[in-house]
Amino acid sequence: MSAGEGTQASNLIGGEPVDSAGGERIDVVCPSDGAVFASIARSAAPDVDAAVASARRAFEDGPWSRMTATERGRILTRLGELVDANRDELAALESRDTGKPARQGVADVTAACRYYEYYGGAADKVHGSQIPFLDGYLAFTTREPHGVVAGIIPWNYPLQILARVAGAALAMGNTLVVKPAEDASLTTVRIAELALEAGCPPGVFNVVTGYGTEAGAPLSAHPGVDYVTFTGSTATGTAIQQAAAINNRGVTMELGGKSPQIVFADADLEAALPVVVNAIIQNGGQTCSAGSRVLIERPVYGAFTAELAKRFAALVAQPHYRDGDLGPLINRLQADRVAGFVAEAEAAGATVLARGSVAADAPEGGCYQAPVLFGDVDPQSKLAREEVFGPVLAAFAFDGEDEAVTLANGTEYGLVAGVWTSDGGRQHRVAKRIRAGQVYVNAYGAGGGIELPFGGFGKSGHGREKGFEALIDMSAAKTTVFNHG
Ligand code: ADP
Repeated sequence: MSAGEGTQASNLIGGEPVDSAGGERIDVVCPSDGAVFASIARSAAPDVDAAVASARRAFEDGPWSRMTATERGRILTRLGELVDANRDELAALESRDTGKPARQGVADVTAACRYYEYYGGAADKVHGSQIPFLDGYLAFTTREPHGVVAGIIPWNYPLQILARVAGAALAMGNTLVVKPAEDASLTTVRIAELALEAGCPPGVFNVVTGYGTEAGAPLSAHPGVDYVTFTGSTATGTAIQQAAAINNRGVTMELGGKSPQIVFADADLEAALPVVVNAIIQNGGQTCSAGSRVLIERPVYGAFTAELAKRFAALVAQPHYRDGDLGPLINRLQADRVAGFVAEAEAAGATVLARGSVAADAPEGGCYQAPVLFGDVDPQSKLAREEVFGPVLAAFAFDGEDEAVTLANGTEYGLVAGVWTSDGGRQHRVAKRIRAGQVYVNAYGAGGGIELPFGGFGKSGHGREKGFEALIDMSAAKTTVFNHG
């Protein structure tokens, strides 16, 4: 039987599977063929209330708050081991639910295991500090959990993004209410079950599924939530921040991007080529850190785009089970949005340098988009400035370092950048001038790097996930002062 076939996923509240109060359900559709294969609970405010109350009880009264950081870490480490033990099931489910190629589902499970392992190991290594203060006083800081953390998760990398949120939040002693995306909730429900099995006390890790406006909105505005972490589109991030502001809650926002890769004429072009292609094709371009712009120094613009074009022309979108270059996009709406972007760019005069294809026998009901490479893109155009979230790469020519940096920093986003050059001085100069949360030199990490702090400037958001830095976001400093005379 195919992965997840017939699954009727429930919410998980207080360690128990429960249906939504309204009893309604949402069909789960496979983007590769448009077929319904499972369903999730369609939750609303009363379900959110129940989940937040459960997380609050687990935070205030439960064994969780009395556990040592080492014990919490062991539970997370065990969760990582359980994810690993269930890797085939989880990878197949993620791949079917999102349409991502099978190997990407496997890579996502591997990354999720690493997050739980990393945060399991880090849980008891977050130290406060002693502060030199007045004579006769002892002053020190500790890192305290926020309390109940709401995690609103997108559909592009549910396993990975859940793992980085849950790993850091639970390591610091918070309890969780997770609202996965309506388009891809199945692995989140499964991971919450595994967390129970790993020893997470009931109520520590709650899941409420449903639509953003019906379940996500009441969660982000809930007075019982102490902190909100969100990964997703910039527009939704703005709405969530406004909702959290009603209660003056802190937020971590990991939003969109329009990330550049800068290729200088002296770069190792052979090394850059596959990385530039992969950075926009991975997950069908549905990656916040997708390298969606390539800036090429003029002397090699023609040669480099010719090579890129060859590779783009050979790319084929296929159903997830074929494990091709890329799968379908997540749903019809997204596929139409990306197709609209491409049509608008063409109508505005952008040159199509190459177009990949969709497998001739791809199922009719699937949400496919052929990859497109645009050249000589006007830096002021919509294609140059807005996030497409699909397999669409825009190429630009530049002259010299200054223009490269101006173009790279020329959008409202600032998530990731790549700099390709063999000149050591330039590597440092350009990396320093780029306004982005991560800069790679002669490399690019679309979505990777468990250990590397990740987050944006400007419209790409604020706060940092991943690495040790996330543990700081998922806790608050508390200063204690003793007058011992
Ligand atoms: P998309 O627009 O592609 O669906 P979003 O960024 O809107 O992507 O979705 C990311 C997550 O945010 C999903 O879990 C979605 O349900 C949730 N979401 C959407 N709208 C809201 C909202 N107004 N308030 C809270 N969560 C929301």
